[in-house]
Amino acid sequence: MKHFLFSILFATLLACSQNTSVNFESNQAEKHSDHWTYSGETGPQHWTEIEKQSDCNGIRQSPINIITIDAVESDTLEPIDIHYDSHVRIHEITNNGHSIQYNFEKGDYIIIHGEQFDLKQIHFHEAAEHTINGIRYPLEMHMVHANEKNQIAVLAIMALEGQSSEPFAFLERHLPVFINEKKTIDEDFDLNLNLPDNRDYFTYSGSLTTPPCTENVSWYIFKTPITVSLDQVKQLQDLMPINNYRDEQALNGRIVRAYSSSNAYFASK
Ligand SMILES: [Zn+2]
Repeated sequence: MKHFLFSILFATLLACSQNTSVNFESNQAEKHSDHWTYSGETGPQHWTEIEKQSDCNGIRQSPINIITIDAVESDTLEPIDIHYDSHVRIHEITNNGHSIQYNFEKGDYIIIHGEQFDLKQIHFHEAAEHTINGIRYPLEMHMVHANEKNQIAVLAIMALEGQSSEPFAFLERHLPVFINEKKTIDEDFDLNLNLPDNRDYFTYSGSLTTPPCTENVSWYIFKTPITVSLDQVKQLQDLMPINNYRDEQALNGRIVRAYSSSNAYFASK
């Protein structure tokens, strides 16, 4: 009996300590993410001072300006091997104060050099973070994937104002979501519908574009934008900080490579 009571006490203590550590971590995460912003004294120029342990002053940072004539067309690049399933569910939508983010359940993934990167979440920057020949699109969507080693691969899609997009209409059905609010969605979402028909891309090695700016990101930026309606841009804009994008970072000798399906076709002939 004594042994039994001790087991219960021990299990309770263990449960409490686990809860405490989970709460502690999420509190820390909140404090951490509350600290930096996109303007003023906590804006991007100050991220390094605020986030002492970050890579924000590193030499392989993102985003960058892609100069198309400098991008190296490479025969060794392959089409992005995308495995998005129409029955994978979006678990929830959250407004973390920096962006609107949709968290996905496991099931969507891409394969890069034989390694699987699982889709974790998608979020938005308005206006775009990457520029192409100095041109900044009104909206950039980031589809964030991670492998088992926690290396990141982000597919970035630019959006132009134009025809309304059906998947965006779905995503926006769950708005508004206000700062620090989370809403459970648990509905199927076919991410394929958000991709441009032409999957040609630019790729380079860079970083997260938000603190801690970790330099473990392979970027894949689709050359072809999708269109969303002005209304759809505005809805997101109203809920996110104004201009939630980081400015262009120095290339520091990095090479941007370009994949083009037409070149691959001729190369194989
Ligand atoms: Zn992003």
